[in-house]
Amino acid sequence: MADVDLLSLLPEELETLARRLGADGYRGRQLATWLFKKGVYDFEAMSNLPKDFRARLAEEAFVGVPDVERVVPSRDGSQKFVLRLADGARIHAVLMPDRDRLTLCLSVQVGCGFACAFCFTGTMGLIRNLTAGEIVGQPAAVRQTLPPETRITHLVFMGMGEPLANYEAVVKALRLLTHPGAFGYSPRRITVSTVGLVSGMQKLAKESLKVNLAVSLHATTDAVRERLMPVNKSWPLEDLLAACRRFPLPVRRRMTFEYVLLDDVNDSPEDAIRLTRLLKGVRAKVNLIPFNAWEGSGFRRPPLQRILAFQAILQEHGITATVRWSKGEDIGAACGQLKESSSKERVLA
Ligand code: SAH
Repeated sequence: MADVDLLSLLPEELETLARRLGADGYRGRQLATWLFKKGVYDFEAMSNLPKDFRARLAEEAFVGVPDVERVVPSRDGSQKFVLRLADGARIHAVLMPDRDRLTLCLSVQVGCGFACAFCFTGTMGLIRNLTAGEIVGQPAAVRQTLPPETRITHLVFMGMGEPLANYEAVVKALRLLTHPGAFGYSPRRITVSTVGLVSGMQKLAKESLKVNLAVSLHATTDAVRERLMPVNKSWPLEDLLAACRRFPLPVRRRMTFEYVLLDDVNDSPEDAIRLTRLLKGVRAKVNLIPFNAWEGSGFRRPPLQRILAFQAILQEHGITATVRWSKGEDIGAACGQLKESSSKERVLA
């Protein structure tokens, strides 16, 4: 039975597999080149592999690249990929061009169990975790739709789901993405965003993966954060920021704090001041995300003036603060808008 997803195996694991299937170890490295470097997933096309090895592979293994079911283009140049997994579940990945960068935002779970009040994906609940193969299958699938010379330059784990709640698969995916013999991304080009799961952050700190970490903060008092993010009941601000201070950052690197701006909820000048205090002693930069609306959310985006005033206060206190004008808003692909067949998507499809 074909039960091993080759996309979930590191080059050295592919070598072991090759030996188990009766071939020389180096056949595993050749296989890795086809899969990760060339993006070829059809065993028949792997011309330098012996026929009997290809036949054994076909019996024992498969390449779990998700099907690209639909590509929804946005007016701003980004594209939402609706990907279909082997069991029929659907996830989204969003490709965002920006000057010399091409960033892919990928998913780690079908749905999400953290139920942040402002996040549309959160209304789905958790359906299931993705496997490591399904996580790296997203850049693999998207790459197939691009011209051969186009490279996805950056990866952000900011799609559906909470990376640190699918810890083993996410860490394996990061190893596959950064292994020189697999996808070969520099860890500086990869960012993992977390809801603030302190236990997972502590584990991640020990992996020496050197990827960037982004923490969804979104509030400056426990009362407000608890209302917005139920995870705050388990890991309140003090614990979260202590974990951030302890997190080993490579030299000259900073941790990103995401802060969704919600009108009249967390966008006051007092909030901005409190934020500067909370971040004392953390090598931090702040990414302000004006709320992306969805029907029935009960939240509004603050007026532009208030967004800029919030940013100005942070900057006056020496904190680098950028405003993330989300991409793909018109196609339901912006931060927190990912959910299977949203009403907007149906209109555009
Ligand atoms: N689970 C991870 C990744 C989620 S999405 C995390 O929580 O960090 C990436 C960012 O988008 C998070 O900071 C999330 O809080 C934010 N977000 C969610 N819904 C949003 C919305 N409607 N508008 C703006 N940002 C949103």
